[in-house]
Amino acid sequence: MDTPKLVEAIKEFFSGDIEYDDKTLHKYSHDTSLYEIVPQVVVFPKTREDIKNLVSFVSDHKKEYPGLSITARSAGTDMSGGAINNSIIVDFTRYFKGVGDINEKGTKVEPGVYYRDFEKKTLRRGLLLPSFPASRQLCALGGMVNNNSGGERTLRYGKTIDYVKNIKMILSDGNEYQFGRLSKNELMDKMKQKDFEGEIYRKMYKLVEDNYDLIKSSKPAVSKNSTAYNIWDVWDREYFDLSKIFVGAQGTLGVNTQTTVTLVPRLKRYGLLVVYINDINVLPHLIQDALKHSPVSFEAFDDATLKLAIRFMPQFIRILGLSGTIRMGIQFLPDLIRFAAQGLPKLTLLVEFDGKSAKEIKEKVYALKKALEIYTVRLQPVESEAKAKQYFTIRRESFNLLRKNVKNKHTAPFIDDFIVRPEYLVEFFPKLNQILEKHEVDATLAGHIGDGNFHIIPLMEIEKQSERDKIDVVQKEVQDLVLEYKGSISAEHNDGMVRGPFIKQMYGQEMFEVFKEVKNIFDPQNIFNPHKKTDARLSFSQKHIRQKF
Ligand SMILES: Cc1cc2nc3c(=O)[nH]c(=O)nc-3n(C[C@H](O)[C@H](O)[C@H](O)COP(=O)(O)OP(=O)(O)OC[C@H]3O[C@@H](n4cnc5c(N)ncnc54)[C@H](O)[C@@H]3O)c2cc1C
Repeated sequence: MDTPKLVEAIKEFFSGDIEYDDKTLHKYSHDTSLYEIVPQVVVFPKTREDIKNLVSFVSDHKKEYPGLSITARSAGTDMSGGAINNSIIVDFTRYFKGVGDINEKGTKVEPGVYYRDFEKKTLRRGLLLPSFPASRQLCALGGMVNNNSGGERTLRYGKTIDYVKNIKMILSDGNEYQFGRLSKNELMDKMKQKDFEGEIYRKMYKLVEDNYDLIKSSKPAVSKNSTAYNIWDVWDREYFDLSKIFVGAQGTLGVNTQTTVTLVPRLKRYGLLVVYINDINVLPHLIQDALKHSPVSFEAFDDATLKLAIRFMPQFIRILGLSGTIRMGIQFLPDLIRFAAQGLPKLTLLVEFDGKSAKEIKEKVYALKKALEIYTVRLQPVESEAKAKQYFTIRRESFNLLRKNVKNKHTAPFIDDFIVRPEYLVEFFPKLNQILEKHEVDATLAGHIGDGNFHIIPLMEIEKQSERDKIDVVQKEVQDLVLEYKGSISAEHNDGMVRGPFIKQMYGQEMFEVFKEVKNIFDPQNIFNPHKKTDARLSFSQKHIRQKF
């Protein structure tokens, strides 16, 4: 359907905004991935009726116009290409910004609420959604839920899925349904329904029951995984919970209009031990020893990231909201002098503790320091909160600063989210470095080291064909290595266009058929976010790699 005709048709039933000027289309042709796809039109729904009508319209016209589709989008910070597409983009951040009453049981939240605004509200009640990603200042709840995001606190608190109590979705029949945990009796009642919802429950029950052992045995043996659909938590033969299949589905099964999340009490006090490492061979044992002390987070960044932080000190100062360069300089001075004398550490690890009193936290920090003194590493307890914030800002902001500041080279996230169990790291790391060196890939590394989850961000002259040619080769080699070590190709950033084409490789044909059937049950016409998850094709993704930034 051509754009003028599509826009006229949408105007008939849509009360929200419809935009398709060049500036809007340019903005929405990108997320933070390495892809670019220009949509036909971007719509900003005001009501649920808007979305229901839109879904019904696309369903009704899909046969005649196979190119029609709906891609939901919240803040658009997706790194995998999940939030871009070539037909209708539905943006939630303009009007879907409702937050319900907040109490110890949790709250209801609409997808367009920015996490930073949400957090201000929950903190007023002394509560927190602890699965916030490093993009906490940029992302919205819709993306966190539909990507199943995780972050620095995931080590202790889990990912977003662990906080989703129930979820409201508009499905391909144009109706809104709520999904949550059902007992066996409640499941039986749902399956008796003669409508679309009943059909979904019958088909999904059959799928997970018929393939029960296959599904259980295919779960990757890592602490977090976002590759494919989260089918593992749907049915344990006691409870049946379809909310789990939507979390992390990247809007490929329906459109999410509201989520009820649980929250945790916020502990006000934190303490930090910084560990500077030059010999990565110490990592596996050191990680195991540190984890025995139950840190609340355990993060890492490399020397390239640290160099960047030093180079872009003014931007950091702005992010940190400090009153001036001098103050920042003074606080960083001892570290800088030491670095100048001894060289930058290869890896900086941040091991963070929480507790009820300053005394308790200090004891935890110093107990770990003592335990790690057996290793040839430098250990620095950080008691000042302002200083701890500096280290965490380096960790959280590295990707964003790279995106904005490095001249001539561009961030190309295509090996940005793999996870391997920490005990394999000593073998895994040298092999990974060999691949990067062999292909002359310049990259920064940061990540959630306690989980073995790494964000490697290559910097490339993406305008050059020779550089773009490396993407495919390096991605395949790194992913093969990850799978050799029984890891997952995505821990939290999700599949999108970058990893969707490799789902079959990771799980094998039989499980791939199960995932395909999930998509088919909810979205038989493929109207929701095509070219992602089981519908992803390498040739399509490759065709849409950005040629300039
Ligand atoms: C600097 C930086 C750091 C990051 N760090 C992390 C990190 O530590 N951990 C992490 O997990 N991720 C991280 N990310 C990736 C990203 O920020 C997160 O996944 C984030 O939660 C996405 O939120 P968003 O609102 O921007 O989602 P979007 O980009 O808008 O969407 C993400 C996906 O969800 C789908 N979606 C959005 N809204 C809906 C809806 N209403 N219904 C159905 N589907 C919907 C989209 O189609 C898309 O597939 C980082 C990104 C950046 C730029």
